[in-house]
Amino acid sequence: MNFTESKTFRAMGTVNTITIYQENEEECLEKAVRKVKKLHDRMSVYEAGSEISRVNAHAGESPVKISSDTMELLSMAKEYASVSEGAFQITCRPLTSLYHIGVKSGELPQKRQIEKAKALVCDDDLVLDEKNGEAMLLRKGQGIDLGGIAKGYAADKARGILMEVGVKEALINFGGTVSMIGSPRRIGIQHPRYGTGAAMGSLRAENEAVVTSGDYERYFIQDGIRYCHILDPRTGRPSDSGICSVTMTGRSAAELDALTTAVFVLGPQKGAALAERFGCGLILVTKELNVFVSENLSTRFVYCPSLKQEGSHSAKQSVIS
Ligand code: ADP
Ligand code: MG
Repeated sequence: MNFTESKTFRAMGTVNTITIYQENEEECLEKAVRKVKKLHDRMSVYEAGSEISRVNAHAGESPVKISSDTMELLSMAKEYASVSEGAFQITCRPLTSLYHIGVKSGELPQKRQIEKAKALVCDDDLVLDEKNGEAMLLRKGQGIDLGGIAKGYAADKARGILMEVGVKEALINFGGTVSMIGSPRRIGIQHPRYGTGAAMGSLRAENEAVVTSGDYERYFIQDGIRYCHILDPRTGRPSDSGICSVTMTGRSAAELDALTTAVFVLGPQKGAALAERFGCGLILVTKELNVFVSENLSTRFVYCPSLKQEGSHSAKQSVIS
């Protein structure tokens, strides 16, 4: 591969890179970047005027007009809530705003605050009116946070734009959410405990998406216990399922983004069953650093905890070759 065009930009709370291994694709590269930034503007809870912020601000009051992209993503997200037995809940905003994990230095809130926020988390209370293009949360105080799925959705949309103009070789990396077009590449998977840049192994991936969720980038430690940014909606507390990293492979990055978060919350047994049900590949690392690799990845994943990652913008994954 001697020719590459690449753009690195911030959106969705992370550093994103789109690389095309072809000449004269500047225009579609720009178009993909613009689309991702637009999705960010519509979906971020940190943008006061975003569609999601408006739905949250009008919770319990009135429906809000949303774009077709936001509608598509919200209805997808609701399905992952139901297949994950509620482990994945985009209405987790009352909890994420209570903890602020990865945004401020965190500390555990009081039990009473946790209970109050937890009671508001319920994706069934997100009502979508597809005909009128409107969304509404039924109860005051409820809120959507798309942090667990938006990056994957954006990666799928960027991929679609590149595919439309016939791009044959490309790599999209949105902070641990990777989508590839074309030939096989070896992707380094970050070791969850060895520090940024140290891989635990490499995965041969081809024309597919690879997504990682881990507890090692956004977390805080209190009384010797690590509390990560993935929350368990059933307890209202940071997930304590015995997993420290989940990587999954499949077709849709949005699906994998939701499922990696869900698997992380569900724990090794139920998580592996969910991944299998969706026909996805799975690499799961437990707190004891035991590594589980699904049958369908057994010939594609090489466990090698000393491997160094090169040129990585994301601490989670990088291209090795
Ligand atoms: P990352 O953003 O680090 O790639 P994830 O995809 O797992 O990791 O998303 C974590 C984010 O998803 C959190 O920062 C929060 O915004 C949101 N989130 C946390 N817990 C849940 C949950 N149980 N269901 C859905 N979204 C969640
Ligand atoms: Mg996710």
